Amino acid sequence: MATRIPEEVINQVRTAVNITDVVSEYVQLHKQGRNLFGKCPWHDERTPSFSVNEQKQIFHCFSCGRGGNVFQFLIEMKNLSFPEAVLEVAKIAHIDIDQQYLEGANTSKPVSEHAALYDLYTEAAKLYHHMLMNTSAGQEALDYLHQRGLSDETLDLFHLGYAPKESLLLPFFQERGIDYQLLRQSELFVENEDGSLRDRFVNRVLFTIRNSNGQVIAFSGRSLAHDEQAKYINSPESVLFNKSQELFNFDLAKNPVKRSKDIILFEGFMDVIAAFSAGVQNGVASMGTSLTVEQVQKISRIANQVLIAYDGDHAGQAATKRAIDLITQVAPALKIQIINLPDGLDPDEYLRKFGETEFTNALTHGLETPVTFAMRYLKQGRNLANEAEKLAYLDEVLKILATVDNPLERDLQVNQLATEFNVGAASLNEQLSYLIKQTPQDNQARDGKRTRQQAAILPEPQLKVRSRTERAERTLLMWMLHDWHVWQEVTSISDFHFTKLEYETLFLLAQGYWSTHNQYDLGLFLDYLNDNNLARALTDLENDVMISQPSLPAVKQLVDQIMNVTPLADQIKHKMQQISEAQQLGNNELLVTLTNEYIILLRQHHAQQ
Ligand SMILES: [Zn+2]
Repeated sequence: MATRIPEEVINQVRTAVNITDVVSEYVQLHKQGRNLFGKCPWHDERTPSFSVNEQKQIFHCFSCGRGGNVFQFLIEMKNLSFPEAVLEVAKIAHIDIDQQYLEGANTSKPVSEHAALYDLYTEAAKLYHHMLMNTSAGQEALDYLHQRGLSDETLDLFHLGYAPKESLLLPFFQERGIDYQLLRQSELFVENEDGSLRDRFVNRVLFTIRNSNGQVIAFSGRSLAHDEQAKYINSPESVLFNKSQELFNFDLAKNPVKRSKDIILFEGFMDVIAAFSAGVQNGVASMGTSLTVEQVQKISRIANQVLIAYDGDHAGQAATKRAIDLITQVAPALKIQIINLPDGLDPDEYLRKFGETEFTNALTHGLETPVTFAMRYLKQGRNLANEAEKLAYLDEVLKILATVDNPLERDLQVNQLATEFNVGAASLNEQLSYLIKQTPQDNQARDGKRTRQQAAILPEPQLKVRSRTERAERTLLMWMLHDWHVWQEVTSISDFHFTKLEYETLFLLAQGYWSTHNQYDLGLFLDYLNDNNLARALTDLENDVMISQPSLPAVKQLVDQIMNVTPLADQIKHKMQQISEAQQLGNNELLVTLTNEYIILLRQHHAQQ
């Protein structure tokens, strides 16, 4: 498979059939109310829990959770890959896909569509760089960067710049007769109330953001003033700049990464630049906020291993944990190691303090696996002298160990835990093998290659008792997808995120979806997700959540519930009580469940701090 099947073709194929006709080949369906019901083809059951929603063109099993559109049905039913499923449906619909596929590949648009905007950014970057390097206005900024250890050569290479206190770009471009609409569209300016424009960046050191081809597409400005204004401001998204898809320095890093297959993920632009000038050329950074699904996908296309080198402070460590979780979910084949710099220093600080040799040493030695990182991270904020907390800690660590394939690594860690906490290795091993049996083999399910035999022994799902916050998240996510106003309202809240990883992942992917689509279409979005587990989650939401006309106060209420109301500290306290009760009762199964819930609460709590 050299290239992907174009989305229009996939959409045409999917809409050419009725999912009911395809499913009926495998399942006897009976009409009941608006939906069709039948016995799930993947497991034995007496009462039907499998349904087809013809209006939405999706299937869903309330019992095993499988769900999706016609493609996911065939992927699960016949062990097909996604392209194979598309071809299969095309056959049913008598669509000659190969021919169209070739045509689609030949008519790809030239990339120069936004040439005028690219030119504008190139000019702006040159001008800002000139201000920094050659003018007295830029002297303070230049001194600052020199102080941070950057040479002129590095400043040239990364096109660092300075935006002066006075208007610079506007008169420059107006003098050249650049079209007003183009200037407006560029996002290099802020619009005044009367519709006139002014420079967006004023008195700031500017980091130039380039796309994968090295074209300038945005700036990030660091304030030089010592007052209360924002330390960093970034270009807003524009037709050139989609921040969830870009990685700082990806253009310069990609060739070194292709050679070594390693990529280093830093937290700040300064870290990337400092490392680069110290000879470490495979570093990138995400755009200010946390790592996104698209960025992980981008990385996984060229690298086999990610080294995470976030800041040593608490926020950096929490971001590391989130990055590990996200990478594991999005690109399970990608190997992860964590660079743990001594003394909680940032990479940039460390480099300045200890010099290049020490720095490159630290990047290649002292690496942690996700397991050793988690063991260290989970200790934070926990009193391990307390029996219940120690137990909760051990249980969480064992749970992570249960996902490690290598028995040797598991053994090593178990012995280390036994020594460190003065507990018997045998009892730890016993608990570990119990947990291993409980851990589903997610990776097989993810690529749709699970055999029917494996599917048949899947345990029935637990009763779905959802917390108020989870119910709020489910409703809000559905409203956001179905109603553009709700989407805009919620995405304008800084720091908004879903606490449940599944919903957060759907939310992150929806951002990518919206950047290339004008409206929410369930079938299209399911194809866009291209992941069986996410398709299941979304189908479950679509079947479960009523889409009414959301009012603004109702939206605010849900956001409030998710972000503020749930008093985590109270919940954590309550959970602790339940844990010690379960301990007294000797109910191990309950203890495991409670402990897991407890850890999730703690993580959320950490993430909020
Ligand atoms: Zn089922």
